[in-house]
Amino acid sequence: MSMRIAFVGLGNMGLPMALNLKAAGHRVVGFDLAGGARAAAQQAGLPLAAELADAVADAQAVITMLPAGRHVIGVWTELASLAAPGALLVDCSTVDVDSAREAHAMAAAAGMLSLDAPVSGGTVGAEAATLTFMCGGSDEAFSAAQPVLALMGKRIVHCGAAGAGQAAKICNNMILGISMIGVAEAFVLAEKLGLSHQALFDVASTSSGQCWSLTTYCPVPGPVPGSPANRDYKPGFAAALMLKDLGLAREAADGSGAATPLGRHAKEIYEAFDAAGGGGEDFSAVIKYLRQR
Ligand code: NAD
Repeated sequence: MSMRIAFVGLGNMGLPMALNLKAAGHRVVGFDLAGGARAAAQQAGLPLAAELADAVADAQAVITMLPAGRHVIGVWTELASLAAPGALLVDCSTVDVDSAREAHAMAAAAGMLSLDAPVSGGTVGAEAATLTFMCGGSDEAFSAAQPVLALMGKRIVHCGAAGAGQAAKICNNMILGISMIGVAEAFVLAEKLGLSHQALFDVASTSSGQCWSLTTYCPVPGPVPGSPANRDYKPGFAAALMLKDLGLAREAADGSGAATPLGRHAKEIYEAFDAAGGGGEDFSAVIKYLRQR
């Protein structure tokens, strides 16, 4: 059954996600503040609203895909009065757990179902509709959102109550940030010891050093032809986004009292790499920074 869906935030991720919903036959109306994003959406054939109010007025579901927590709180504050009573609100942005819970509370107060549903899979996954959604919210909200999310992704996991999706995303990406630095350090050490990249890869990828940062995003060119290292570290997953996520992990650790010494150190390393101009490169390019130290 065709639904009326508003999609707010038509950036690198939001536009391809919205287009997949439209391609599946839903009546999607997009909204974005930025002229560039609006022009790209128009060119791609996505109907646009001039104001947020127009986009969401009769929408049965509103999906937001925005940069950070303050943007989500800003937009959801407006949605609480602009969206139709009974609408389903889904935030797919990556934000801090506190902002996610605050957004859920605003939706509940306005009588709306809500879900935090951050994604992994990047722009390639957004285009191919192969994203993983990590969801937090009630069973009712999850059931209502699942058929819509299934048109944009292939794994949809209900992680728990409000904020649990963001918690899962933050914990996963902290593992990823730490493991990429670990893999990159091993290649730098191997270079110093005269061990070839391929030899280290052949051993570690079939031994206890095996991990996604090695076998999918290998930070040196050669062993994994599709990894960003083979295209001069063009992202992929930009180092600036990794730094953002490690910042969210650190905030969450500070707020909850969890000891995450490696997560903290990984953030410092990505901060230094970003300050040295690496923020726009793939996060695996951190190996170049480690070589220079
Ligand atoms: P982006 O900056 O390309 O897009 C965000 C869009 O939101 C922009 O077009 C911006 O104009 C718009 N926006 C900001 N405030 C708005 C408002 N008040 N009303 C309407 N539109 C507004 O970012 P992105 O790469 O699409 O990422 C979106 C989110 O997804 C982020 O939270 C990011 O951390 C997360 N994420 C990104 C990736 C990735 O690979 N790019 C992967 C996983 C998760």
